[in-house]
Formats: sequence, C-alpha cells, structure tokens
Amino acid sequence: MRNLSCAAALIAALMSSTAHAQEPKGDVAWDILSGLTSEVGPRMPGSEAEARARVWADARLKALGFSNVTVEPFTIRGYVRGRDEASLLAPIPFKLAVTALGYSGTTPDKGVEGEVAYFPTLDALKAAPAGSLNGKIAFIDHAMKRAQDGSGYGPYGAVRRQGPAIAAGKGALATVIRSIGTDNHRNPHTGGTTFPDGTKPIPAGAVSNPDADLIARIARSGKPIRLNLTLTGKTTEGLPSGNVFADLPGRDPSLPAILLGCHLDSWDLGTGAIDDAAGCAIITAAALKAQEGGKPLRTIRVFWAGSEELGGFGGRDFAAKHAEPYALAMESDFGAAKVWRVTFSMAEANKALSDRIAAALSPMGIVRGPGTASGGTDVAPVIAKQKLAVVDLDQDGTHYFDLHHTPDDTLDKVDPAELAQNVAAWTEVLKIVANEAGPIAAVE
Ligand code: ZN
Ligand code: ZN
Repeated sequence: MRNLSCAAALIAALMSSTAHAQEPKGDVAWDILSGLTSEVGPRMPGSEAEARARVWADARLKALGFSNVTVEPFTIRGYVRGRDEASLLAPIPFKLAVTALGYSGTTPDKGVEGEVAYFPTLDALKAAPAGSLNGKIAFIDHAMKRAQDGSGYGPYGAVRRQGPAIAAGKGALATVIRSIGTDNHRNPHTGGTTFPDGTKPIPAGAVSNPDADLIARIARSGKPIRLNLTLTGKTTEGLPSGNVFADLPGRDPSLPAILLGCHLDSWDLGTGAIDDAAGCAIITAAALKAQEGGKPLRTIRVFWAGSEELGGFGGRDFAAKHAEPYALAMESDFGAAKVWRVTFSMAEANKALSDRIAAALSPMGIVRGPGTASGGTDVAPVIAKQKLAVVDLDQDGTHYFDLHHTPDDTLDKVDPAELAQNVAAWTEVLKIVANEAGPIAAVE
C-alpha cells in the first residue's frame, strides 16, 4: 500500500509539471489551438487530414457564433510524403536525420548513392560550372542566425526554395541542404522547394543542423564524402484543398469589411501548433473579443486559408474568387510568441488612425516600427488586387525557427500567457479599425 501511494504521488507530481496541467480553461484561442493540434493533427496541403480540418473549422466557427461560415474548395498540386532516409557511407557510416522537401523528386526504394559536392553557400553553388555535378549529390550549407524579426528566413530560405533546382541544372543526382532553422537538435526542418518548368525535379532533402555541422567538418578536412539518400514521396496533381471563412457582421454592412488571415494547413512532422494553428486561434479569438462592449461598425471576416505551405494556393484562390471590397487586411503566421512591434501600410490621410492604434498598443510594450506592413502569404493576393491598407503585429521570432517545420512544432511549445498577449493586442487594433467610419487607404 505504502509503495502504491508513493507511486501515485510521484505520478501526480509529474503530471503537474506538464504543460497540460496549465492549460487555460474556456479560452477561445487555446481551445482552437488545442483542438486543431489534438483532434485534427498535422494538416498537409491536399491531404485527408486537411479535409478533416475544414470540417472541424466549419463546425467550430459556427459553434462560436460566426455567420456566413463558408468552405470554398479548390485543387492543388501537392506532395505526398514517403520514406525519408539518409546515411553517410564514407568516410564514416552514420544515419542522418533527414526530411524530404515538398515537391522533391522521388528516389527508387533503395535510394540513390553518390559522392557529395559541398557548397558553403548558395552563391558558391551558382558559381559551379555547368555539368560539374554530374552523378553527384550537392550539399548546400548556409549561416542562418536567430533574429527577433526572423529576418534570416528570406535570404537563407533561398537555399531551400531555389537550391535543388540550381543543382539539378548543373547535373546533380540529388540535393541535400542544411535545414533552414536555428536550433541545434537533430530535427530536420521541412518546407517547399520549387522546380521551374523545364527543370526535371531531383530528390531534395534537408538534414538537421548537427548533421550538417558534421558534413561541413568532414568537407573541410578534404576527405571524400559518400551518401545514400532515400526519399520515396511523390508530387501529386489534383489533390482536394479549400479555404474556410466566416463573418462577425458589423452594424453597417455597407462598409467594406476587415479581413484577418491565417492558414489551416501545416507540415506533417509536428502537429502544426505554431505554424499556423496559433495564427487561426489568435485572429478568431480577437475577432470575438472585439465584439465585447458593443458590435463594431464594420464586419470582421476571419479567413483560414488552405494549402499555404506548398506555395500559397489558398490566398490566390480567395483573391481570384472574391470581388467584395475590404477596408484593411491583417495576418497572423509567425508563431505564438509575444507581439513586440506594429507596422502600417496606410495612407498619410489615415495618419490619425495609425497614431491611435500605436498609442493603444504602447502600454503593452509594443513599439511602432519603421518600414511598411505587408500582411502574409494568405492575404497578400487580395491586398495586391485591392491595394488594401495593412497593419502587421510582429511577433518575437527569436525562437520561431527552432521549431518551424520540425517535429517539435507541437502544442506544448505555446505559452498560454504569450498567446493571450497576442489576442489582447489584436483586439485593441480591431476595436479601432472596425469602428473607423471613414475610408482606410493603403500607402500610396
Ligand atoms: Zn505559416
Ligand atoms: Zn510554414
């Protein structure tokens, strides 16, 4: 008996130390985040799971009291993951932590084997002579570092987006890249790559940062490196996807609405908590909170886009199908860490409006940044089409690329207090912009 009660006490102590024990009850944002990650799970673009996510979203948005809840289907060119394996064969045998990139070419079941040609940068690969990679596996390194604004992702992300196609053009058998990420765990980071028309896709994978360190160290020693790469996934045409949107009608339906974007799909290594269940949770909870104390003047539309991860299909489909005018667009797709900065794309004539927003956020420690707001992949096409004003609430990205597109993108990484700070910041902005009676214009 005594032993049993000790065991029970130990189990209780262990349970109280998990994130689960601290989950906020009855919190709209947390419930969406928890529901999408735990009831739906990973939501690859074009997958059966993404379809279940649309059904889940439709039911949840209706249950939360949204009107005009709409699922709008389209089809995409998707990527269906297969078996991802890689091993160093020489100078030492070692099993690598690898993931296929979206739209990778497909290897035979036994994989492909070749000598590694090491490139410290994408520019070094670009400088390689035509045909110099015939029969070789190109390895592309890079030096992405963590930054509060996540600014490394644009330039270093080019290694993933363009590197495999450039290597293919020079005759490479396959490409392996250092993961586009800032952690030092043996988690590879996935993400989409692109092969332009006329370039035959080659197998393309990413290895974890420690594995990339090992390859770089051996390459510097001058020893030949041989590698086996097995990526059996397939690019597949005509997969079903779709967008979900829903409205909280304003007092004056004749005024253009406020459009809030996030994406419902995710990569499949984790459960897509920070990318981007958190974004959908934040915008939806804030849209509801902005109704407290009186219905705003303008309608607020939440737009949960499909298939963002393989090239922004949902945003483009939405812009193509929708002609109704919007007043302003915003997007949340950068995790769940605190908002630290606000930027605007707003006409000089709306300076008083942007000043009021900045003043409302200032007591939360959110600073007004230089530069222009741009929204995100999901709202960008409609912003471009309608030349919309934009407000960006920039989240702290210091740790975002430790988790982004990895097996570690899971619910326990979200701090409920930081999630709540996001909802509070978005609510402040919505209460102002959704009650603005006059025209809101983009920066000229
Ligand atoms: Zn995202
Ligand atoms: Zn992503």
